[in-house]
Amino acid sequence: MMPIDFTLTSYQRRLQRMAREFANEILGPLVRPADENADPQKAFQSIKGAYVESYKLGFATGFIPKKYGGGGISNVDLQIVVEELCAVDPGFATILLVNGLALMPLVWFANERQKQQWLVPATSDPRGEYLAGWTVSEAAGTPGGTANFDGPASLPAGVALTAVHDKKNGEYILNGRKHWPANAGGWDLQGADVNVCIVRTTPEAEGSRALSAIIIPRGTPGVTYEPPISKLGHRICQNNSVVFSDCRVPEENAFAVGNGDLVVNKAFTWSGPVAAIASVGVARSAYEYALSWSKKYTGGGDKPIINHQIVAYTLAEIAMKVEAGRAFAWKAAHYHDLHDANGHAIGPMSKVFCSEMLFNAVFQAMKVVGVNALDTSNPLGRYLREASVFPLYDAGNVGMQMRKICAVMADPAFDPRSIAASAATPFGKQAPPPDTQAVGRNLKRQA
Ligand SMILES: Cc1cc2nc3c(=O)[nH]c(=O)nc-3n(C[C@H](O)[C@H](O)[C@H](O)COP(=O)(O)OP(=O)(O)OC[C@H]3O[C@@H](n4cnc5c(N)ncnc54)[C@H](O)[C@@H]3O)c2cc1C
Repeated sequence: MMPIDFTLTSYQRRLQRMAREFANEILGPLVRPADENADPQKAFQSIKGAYVESYKLGFATGFIPKKYGGGGISNVDLQIVVEELCAVDPGFATILLVNGLALMPLVWFANERQKQQWLVPATSDPRGEYLAGWTVSEAAGTPGGTANFDGPASLPAGVALTAVHDKKNGEYILNGRKHWPANAGGWDLQGADVNVCIVRTTPEAEGSRALSAIIIPRGTPGVTYEPPISKLGHRICQNNSVVFSDCRVPEENAFAVGNGDLVVNKAFTWSGPVAAIASVGVARSAYEYALSWSKKYTGGGDKPIINHQIVAYTLAEIAMKVEAGRAFAWKAAHYHDLHDANGHAIGPMSKVFCSEMLFNAVFQAMKVVGVNALDTSNPLGRYLREASVFPLYDAGNVGMQMRKICAVMADPAFDPRSIAASAATPFGKQAPPPDTQAVGRNLKRQA
């Protein structure tokens, strides 16, 4: 095997072609009307046909191991698909990403019976409509929010959706609310096929001991899904508020009991390179649009604007960002393939780097195009709105992803060359909890 080679295999080229054709021909025509639809639930429903097609192509559950009916595709192969989808619409790709955020924790943390029970139906829906929700985030408030889910505080801070174990009846009883989860409401606001929920099973404990994951199947009484949040960008994916009121779930639906923090951290580590390459996909489209514009538009002069050095330099800078971002995202995905998605530093690093790069790249593309970039018939305004989502979603860069990188780095055993060498970077309950205070404490211990 050649150690470093960016050439795609024939399988990967086929995957790229399939994803590109799907994105351009099936998804593309639906994007503008869905983005402009004032009703977010209707926008979400308007792309259901495209979702079904993507399910049939294997994109909706391709990351699930073959043993459970999935495509078993590698993290690197997933990169190729996601870039093509996001070059057309990153909101649509988020629906697929969230299937992964919800279902991959079962692959990593659930027992064999649970995997058979919940993963096999996900990969074998004859309608192709299957959706999984990843229900972690909580509403803003004081206390409230999500970033400190694994912090040292007990209730009322941290995750406030409680699940009390009723041992006599063999059930958990859920009370509280989630806010922001994608896919959770499903196509009809009666629920996704399953919602994988992060709950507080020990109210008095700190976040690293109090949390667990519970599967809530569609149709479970005691759950209501409110109309989706109307967002600035990624308008095609659905984000819900979900209310739990004495919602009873069989105890065998729980997994990672007391280790919900590990579930959240690993899921958002897995998704880091996916969000990174998604950013690259949007940046690529902004770059290609501005490049093509600059070769035709004269700005009232006698030659196309690419002949002005400032314009050409700016385009070259955007091109560098796209290439550097893709290389980083691929490297992080490759690391995940080597270490069972445990790149708790490099995964978040690639997400933070590429998402911050994207916003800047789109704005540079707008400056190349000039005032006409502000005309909404031009796609750059939408790309800017889409770009604003990336640093804030999928575990916000500031509150969650950066803290994970810092926690890995602050571990006294951390080898700063391990990432370059694709060697393991340990992270877990033994590592310092990834909140800024704890990182500070750890540094003091070393001093
Ligand atoms: C398109 C989209 C899809 C999404 N899908 C899902 C989904 O499927 N499931 C789901 O559960 N959520 C989902 N979300 C929510 C998303 O994952 C958020 O990233 C998550 O809720 C955390 O937000 P936050 O980091 O802003 O947290 P908040 O708790 O709201 O923190 C806000 C800010 O406070 C500061 N802060 C807080 N604590 C610290 C700290 N310890 N150190 C430093 N700074 C701190 C930071 O500035 C941070 O940005 C989605 C959001 C969007 C937009």
